[in-house]
Amino acid sequence: MEDLKAVACAEIERMSGDLVILSNEIWKHPELGMEETKAHKYIAELLEKSGMQVERSFKLKTAFRAEYGSADAGPNIAVMCEYDALPEIGHACGHNLIAEVGVAAGLGIMAAIKASTKAIGKVTILGTPAEEGFGGKIDLINLGAFDDVDVAMMAHPFPSSDPTPVMLARETLVVTFHGRSSRAAAYPWEGVNALDAAVLCYQNMACLRQQIKPTWRTHAIFKKGGTKVNIIPEEAVLEVAVRAPTDAEYKQLRHKVVACFEAAAMATGCSMKYQTFEKPYSALVSNGILFRLYESNLASIHKDDGPSFRSGIYGSTDMGNVSRIVPSIHPHFYIGGVAVNHTRDFTTDAGAERAQPYTLAQANALAMTAVDLLLNPDLVQKAKAELQETLKREPSS
Ligand SMILES: [Zn+2]
Repeated sequence: MEDLKAVACAEIERMSGDLVILSNEIWKHPELGMEETKAHKYIAELLEKSGMQVERSFKLKTAFRAEYGSADAGPNIAVMCEYDALPEIGHACGHNLIAEVGVAAGLGIMAAIKASTKAIGKVTILGTPAEEGFGGKIDLINLGAFDDVDVAMMAHPFPSSDPTPVMLARETLVVTFHGRSSRAAAYPWEGVNALDAAVLCYQNMACLRQQIKPTWRTHAIFKKGGTKVNIIPEEAVLEVAVRAPTDAEYKQLRHKVVACFEAAAMATGCSMKYQTFEKPYSALVSNGILFRLYESNLASIHKDDGPSFRSGIYGSTDMGNVSRIVPSIHPHFYIGGVAVNHTRDFTTDAGAERAQPYTLAQANALAMTAVDLLLNPDLVQKAKAELQETLKREPSS
């Protein structure tokens, strides 16, 4: 077994020059979700050159699937690539490094399958676009992309490492307040101010925050607040995120946040409507069988994890939805800097050379974990049983 792990790691080392070029190209050309045509092309070209069967535009325009091996002979292990960026601040979540980890791990696993004296299973690299809000993985789930997958793995850069991050269930709501316009300086009493409703709504949520659990999150931005200062705004719009660690808690928080909307509308005399914007993300389930293998493999090759935490709270991911369909891991890894995600400084860190050894160590650990699973398919069955047990134990709403 150790030989196949060594084969996988050697292949990742051999490809490291191409891998850093791939990561840098994606980093230099940041593309928003569902528009990642350059990243899609760069990755597909490298995988095709490496001998993988690649299906470009797999179910979605900027998704892809690359495969090697046979699922008749053993499990189908999927590694995920993300490659979308954020508006204005580029690769401030380091998804260029996620793409690199996925490609590197996939190539390592392919080399191990090739080197095995008998057929042991299959590796699939899935290119999953639009994590930042649009939920590309949710579309892919609904389109059947995970139907033949046994296990899904990826790794995400952060300023600290965490094998079992808490990624919250999340829904984004758009709330619109409607009032009545009027000439502000002449007939203010004729107006019904929708901006006032939005401001009160924001303040209601700010007051609510003291009364919610430390593991809950709610935050908002103003999308529309008027058009001209001498017109009392007739329409105002807020975008509001609601997050909690379980679906049951999420529903409690959502109820309280909607009460903030209603109170603001009532106080100002505005009408109010809200709707879900973007697809809801589920809370992440980190599979114990998988993350223990991952941790021991990582520890065997890599001693410098940087600042390390366990089960910290970091936001939400569409990998949460995947983790409820197939056993999954989504460990976070340190990349050598102190900047936090979604900042311009993190963009710099994600493109820095010092991120490379950490990134490749993750690829090695995921590839070694895949070798464990390919050679011990009973572990895959145990991971699936554990997932079913976990979902059964979750509190219902
Ligand atoms: Zn991210």
